[in-house]
Amino acid sequence: MAESRGFPLAEPGLWVERIGARMFPAGRPALFLDRDGTINVDTGYPDDPAAMVLRDGIAPVIEAANQGGVPVIVVTNQSGIARGYFGWDAFARVNGRVLELLAEKNAFVDMVLACAYHEAGRGALAVADHPMRKPNPGMLLEAGRRLDLDLSRSLIVGDKPADMEAGQRAGLARGWLIDGEGSTTGGLSVSPLRDTHDLEALLTAIRSL
Ligand SMILES: [Mg+2]
Repeated sequence: MAESRGFPLAEPGLWVERIGARMFPAGRPALFLDRDGTINVDTGYPDDPAAMVLRDGIAPVIEAANQGGVPVIVVTNQSGIARGYFGWDAFARVNGRVLELLAEKNAFVDMVLACAYHEAGRGALAVADHPMRKPNPGMLLEAGRRLDLDLSRSLIVGDKPADMEAGQRAGLARGWLIDGEGSTTGGLSVSPLRDTHDLEALLTAIRSL
């Protein structure tokens, strides 16, 4: 079991951290983002803060949400913790570095949720298909409860179909799938995020929230 004392764990495999002091009125839509492969370049179970590099174009997306009073929420699967590759302490260091890199570009995250559960895990983290693990919508719903969000107008950006499925099942309006294809599933309209034209469309959608 990973050392967990002092970390914002709502349960053994769920990190829920409110960041900063910015307050939001009830009923705001949010911008949800996956982390690895979406905010930072995905190095595969990242555990080294010095290796973290932001993906191009993501800081302006977060900054646009900040400027529009839209809460920015990171929702990240971290099965590397369940698998014993690293602990919450390494997650804290890596995540802190990602937030630091964003802050250097004037982009700020308001809440981070991370799910460590995985069927290949050990001990209390060995849970198959945990409701908090994407593609399940638990982390989005939890953030929605804690910040009293309007999920039906909220957006998600991710690099995997599981990110889009979590958004769809949480009742979100729109998703952007990095290097993916457009689609509509249930109520979720997914757009590709491949080039600067797609990025402009995302920025426009954030500014119109
Ligand atoms: Mg990802």
